Amino acid sequence: MAKRRKRAKTVAVIGAGIVGVSTALWLQRDGHNVILIDKAGPGEGASGGNGGILASCSMVPVTVPGLFLKSPGMLFSADGPLFLRWSYLPKLAPWLLRYLRGCRSQETKRIAGAIAGLVSNSLEEHQALAEGTPAERWLKPSDYIYVYRDRAAFEGERSGTTTRFSPKTRALPSG
Ligand SMILES: Cc1cc2nc3c(=O)[nH]c(=O)nc-3n(C[C@H](O)[C@H](O)[C@H](O)COP(=O)(O)OP(=O)(O)OC[C@H]3O[C@@H](n4cnc5c(N)ncnc54)[C@H](O)[C@@H]3O)c2cc1C
Repeated sequence: MAKRRKRAKTVAVIGAGIVGVSTALWLQRDGHNVILIDKAGPGEGASGGNGGILASCSMVPVTVPGLFLKSPGMLFSADGPLFLRWSYLPKLAPWLLRYLRGCRSQETKRIAGAIAGLVSNSLEEHQALAEGTPAERWLKPSDYIYVYRDRAAFEGERSGTTTRFSPKTRALPSG
């Protein structure tokens, strides 16, 4: 059967962050006419101010076993990573309870497995996206290192969520 010729379409993509720009570029490379729309400029949202790490190893969710017990300490510490507007708590509670259910070990592993499927080839995908553009020179493959205060902290995390330790991960001695 003769292959049907694909007709170029005109597609509008709303949002010029990394998701919108990637979508627009692949559509364009596929031969479509693309209009990229943003209420601000390109890269004005989260994509403009992020850490720039294509972290294919970042598959462990924030909700890990132990977070539930650590949260109060984080909330009441002046330099802790958590902040809560207490008046908003009643509205937040239903979502928060569902979110904290993710702290169960099995659930953490399930979420990490799903994220792994999305991020494990993030470097290769960005390289393909940047190929032939000036952005190519900004991609620098390198190792990603987690540092632990002591052996106990390392072992504690390892026993809590073995998920961070993919086959590509190596433990390095300290010192
Ligand atoms: C501080 C910080 C550090 C991070 N570090 C990393 C990191 O190191 N590595 C990593 O992988 N991820 C990191 N992230 C996450 C990453 O930045 C985001 O997941 C990613 O940028 C989301 O991309 P996006 O295109 O979905 O959203 P955005 O980049 O926010 O783009 C959305 C765009 O849509 C536009 N828009 C929204 N609504 C409308 C509308 N109604 N009409 C028109 N335009 C609209 C906005 O103006 C915006 O430009 C970080 C995030 C933050 C906040």
